[in-house]
Amino acid sequence: MTQEDPNYGFDTLQIHAGARPDPATGARQVPIYQTTAYVFRDAEHAAALFNLQEVGYIYSRLTNPTVAALQERVAVLEGGAGAVCCSSGHAAQIMALFPLMAPGRNVVVSTRLYGGSITQFSQTIKRFGWSATFVDFDDLDAVEAAIDDDTRAVFCESIANPGGYITDLDAISAIADKAGLPLIVDNTSATPYLCRPIEHGATLVVHSMTKYLTGNGTVTGGVVVDSGKFDWSASDKFPSLSAPEPAYHGLKFHETFGPLAFTFHGIAIGLRDLGMTLNPQAAHYTLMGIETLSLRMDRHVENAMKIAAWLETHDAVEAVTYAGLPSSRYNDRVARICPKGAGGLFTVALKGGYESCIKFVDALEIFSHVANLGDTRSLVIHSASTTHRQLSEEQQVAAGAAPNVVRISIGIEDANDLIADLDQALNKAK
Ligand SMILES: *Cc1c(COP(=O)(O)O)cnc(C)c1O
Repeated sequence: MTQEDPNYGFDTLQIHAGARPDPATGARQVPIYQTTAYVFRDAEHAAALFNLQEVGYIYSRLTNPTVAALQERVAVLEGGAGAVCCSSGHAAQIMALFPLMAPGRNVVVSTRLYGGSITQFSQTIKRFGWSATFVDFDDLDAVEAAIDDDTRAVFCESIANPGGYITDLDAISAIADKAGLPLIVDNTSATPYLCRPIEHGATLVVHSMTKYLTGNGTVTGGVVVDSGKFDWSASDKFPSLSAPEPAYHGLKFHETFGPLAFTFHGIAIGLRDLGMTLNPQAAHYTLMGIETLSLRMDRHVENAMKIAAWLETHDAVEAVTYAGLPSSRYNDRVARICPKGAGGLFTVALKGGYESCIKFVDALEIFSHVANLGDTRSLVIHSASTTHRQLSEEQQVAAGAAPNVVRISIGIEDANDLIADLDQALNKAK
């Protein structure tokens, strides 16, 4: 199977895309190519590879066959032209911004983001001379007004962590388009099974593969998928992609590689010089995880719907924010943005406040209190005392992680067992 078979369904592609029988051995599963380097045919071959005149394997910081299979699989599932894997979701976010940004440039980002991303964007990127302007992405005029001459990208999550919010990707991509800017969508919580951001106008899609793509809490990994659709040469805003690259004898990435420009830049400059490489063993685990992605996501959604609806009626519960519930103000976006369901992640606000949340989390038995999501196992976290504790209370509230809120990542266990566990813990927390 090759990338040129667009007619296969998602269930077929999640198993076969990128994975051909191993040419050396016929191995059916993708082998873990646990090697640092690759023997050149001869000196001329080596020179061609280093000049990017021929595509091949040089050194595993740049490319590795196991990682390449995963890159192709995720690119196909997202409907992109190419993808670059990297060592974590956070690495993917830096790798996505790196070719676009420069000192003095900014990115316009949604206030509804994973807590770690808020910290990365509001604090750490300043060390590179970059900045982020945070905006409520439901206020389209504010998004448009936040874009200035130094803006180089717009960034949001499809289904936003900690859950319950869905971004109107069609409206946001129209604004980015009008400004001649790429839209970057973090599709971690939705996965390409529930949401395909490129079909809604996204230029780049990033993932923390740590979560649903691997699916069972074994790997830290990330990926940047390029739609291949953005015209990097339409303005002089993206010289890394459109202007001559001194480190490659003046080669112009966009002119030379067309729709694969961003992907080639990500490997030839990004991985080469930033070194945020995914290791082949992690890639192998993620490839195996993706084989069952649609099955798992269907169950995550089914369980989340059942449990969120049950929680909403519990007398210890103040509110449940799950976009799959009719009570959610984002419910009308589900059919358009993530037609197969609103994911497995939501938050619950308890009437008893902060203290009640702590007791609840400590009393749960099947649910684990961990800083992770998107596992086969059900997980829970009190964001305000953990992942979001670096944020001000105002930022916590804006991110959906107020002090009386617990984030729940529903696994694929028996929903009745999960409900019984939540019930006993809620009763102890009252
Ligand atoms: C976890 C997560 C990240 C960061 O990914 P890591 O693999 O932990 O670096 C980014 N975005 C979202 C939505 C996440 O859930």
